[in-house]
Amino acid sequence: MRGEPPGALALLRESNRDKVLQALRALGVASRPEVARHTGLSRSTVSTIVAELVDEGLIVSRANGRRQAAGSGRPPALIALNPSGGMAVGMDFGKRHLSIALADLSHEIVAEERVVLSADYQAEEAMVTAAKRVERLLTEAATDRSRVVGVGMGIPGPIHESGLVGSSAILPGWVGAAPQQRMSQLLELPVKVGNDASLGALAEYAWGAGRGAGVVVYLKLATGIGSGIVIDGLLFDGVGGTAGEIGHTTIDDEGDLCRCGNRGCLETLAGGPAIAQLVSRSLGEKLEPDDVIRRAVEGDAGCRRALADAGRHIGVAVANLCNLVNPERIVVGGSVGQAGALLLDPLMESVSLRAIPSAAEDVEIVPGELGERAELLGALAFVLRVASTVPAGRTPALQTTDINP
Ligand SMILES: [Zn+2]
Repeated sequence: MRGEPPGALALLRESNRDKVLQALRALGVASRPEVARHTGLSRSTVSTIVAELVDEGLIVSRANGRRQAAGSGRPPALIALNPSGGMAVGMDFGKRHLSIALADLSHEIVAEERVVLSADYQAEEAMVTAAKRVERLLTEAATDRSRVVGVGMGIPGPIHESGLVGSSAILPGWVGAAPQQRMSQLLELPVKVGNDASLGALAEYAWGAGRGAGVVVYLKLATGIGSGIVIDGLLFDGVGGTAGEIGHTTIDDEGDLCRCGNRGCLETLAGGPAIAQLVSRSLGEKLEPDDVIRRAVEGDAGCRRALADAGRHIGVAVANLCNLVNPERIVVGGSVGQAGALLLDPLMESVSLRAIPSAAEDVEIVPGELGERAELLGALAFVLRVASTVPAGRTPALQTTDINP
């Protein structure tokens, strides 16, 4: 073309190819029209680029066994990045467990395992264990390290800008650790570290109950109470990585001392141990949070009341969150979140009583879909969805191959 600077068309073509590859990295398995929507390119441009990339072996066709648009005859043809193009590693460190997964670039999980850790484990020993397990899984999956595109790591505490785990971490063994630096050193691979609630938010947004919503908050109700905020596909961490620490909202000025040093934080009233302690005291019998949930489901009035009260307290903090962030959807996860309607109904009632009416009307509060795997899947999403700012809104092909330790 005359008048065009030399190479301009080639550059545009290169940039469009990158857009298609990035879109598939974020979407996993997708149809051509979905890629067009995600990239903003025309359908014909996408079709041309996809044909080239298929010829070059970078993209493969995928059988469509899952989806068929209602009323239409033929299901759309699906494509994905060539799975042999690379592997993502995800790891999630919890209170007493470590989960690890490998996923290929088409978002298929090729290996997954869960390791039980001791109750008072130290960050260093857990990271060394994780690194050894990753090496073993890569060997078993016959994957060369050079093919690993990145490692996502979920930590039960806020990660400050300095890379250190903050003092309000739920597990003392992690406070002051430098997980990104240490894991990069152990594995000699690029590592990205996120707070567990943030990664849960990313996973529910990408593949779970947050699909298709623009502003999603994930509420992790467990031993601690935390939240992760995803805005248009991007995690919002705040300037120093502390955003979302909803468990430390003051509910009772003169309440119990919290591990953060303040008084009457939400966690001292509605965290798993607080709920269990309340019931244990009244029954004169030591119960764990899971016991309280089980008995409440079976109909125990005291356990039901304890969960309902916790739900109401959480609702106070969530109402404030709705006023400030105006989320479209709040996804409730974590072990205490498993209590379902027994906790969620009082929570929602509390929100509707306290939030600005328009903020309460805008928000949908729903249970999580990914359960205890949310954080692990989020660690994978953290790696697979790099540079993706466009909502995905569909479920990837998540198939698991469980490998017992
Ligand atoms: Zn606190």
